[in-house]
Amino acid sequence: MIRPDAWDVVALRYASKTLPSAHLALDADPHEADGQLDYFVWVCRQGDRIVLVDTGFEAGEGSRRGRALILDPVEGLARLGIAAEAVTDVFITHLHYDHAGNLSRFPNARVHLQDAEMAYATGRCMCHARMRKPFSVADVVTAVELVYKDRVVFHDGDFRLYPGLSGKLVGGHSKGLQMLVIGEAAPLVLASDALHLSRYLDDDRIFPAFGDYLATVEGYRVLREMIVEGAEIVPGHDPDVLRHYGRVDPRWEDAVRLRAPVV
Ligand SMILES: [Zn+2]
Ligand SMILES: [Zn+2]
Repeated sequence: MIRPDAWDVVALRYASKTLPSAHLALDADPHEADGQLDYFVWVCRQGDRIVLVDTGFEAGEGSRRGRALILDPVEGLARLGIAAEAVTDVFITHLHYDHAGNLSRFPNARVHLQDAEMAYATGRCMCHARMRKPFSVADVVTAVELVYKDRVVFHDGDFRLYPGLSGKLVGGHSKGLQMLVIGEAAPLVLASDALHLSRYLDDDRIFPAFGDYLATVEGYRVLREMIVEGAEIVPGHDPDVLRHYGRVDPRWEDAVRLRAPVV
């Protein structure tokens, strides 16, 4: 039986990049210091259910964008004792290149995606270079191929994936962006790119790439309400995540446990 409070949740950093301040926030002052973005995938495990949240970028796509892998996400999973074949579910927060590469490498997983995200990534918005820039067409094509192989489960809004794991549609940064809410009382929220860095919520700043400005700041409002109700928010690209949580293995700085199962 799957228990809502028995998920083991790990964040795995697979890449890191220092960017000029102007690339980090829409209204950044050019005199502000450069900042670091870390790139993560997240894993929720309970028994033989293994839910991978996002799949990282593919090495070649990363290097074309000047971003090197610290470790390949699939190798990182292996280091956690998880074979790619054992992943039962892939929850794609959104189809940007750094969240939906490597999709073909999980041969037994169902892929959970919002209708709005596939429509966005394959529709008229992609006629505009600025809108399509965070997408890799190869990753989008792979996602379409998986649809034709009966491997994609589409969702239209909020849904329950398993007891204690729920998808929550926020949109904004990408039109079909969804977060994963883990647990019921005082949930842990994998916000992905609904919140790149924790401080954005304090400063009311947004990352300069977005599909819909209003939905992005409305997403912040939703996150603030969730915090008031006791939620713990895990931002999508914040280097503080590795400082804030305990390591899975003391000799490995790139993997931290966000939540341990209640026994
Ligand atoms: Zn993104
Ligand atoms: Zn991202």
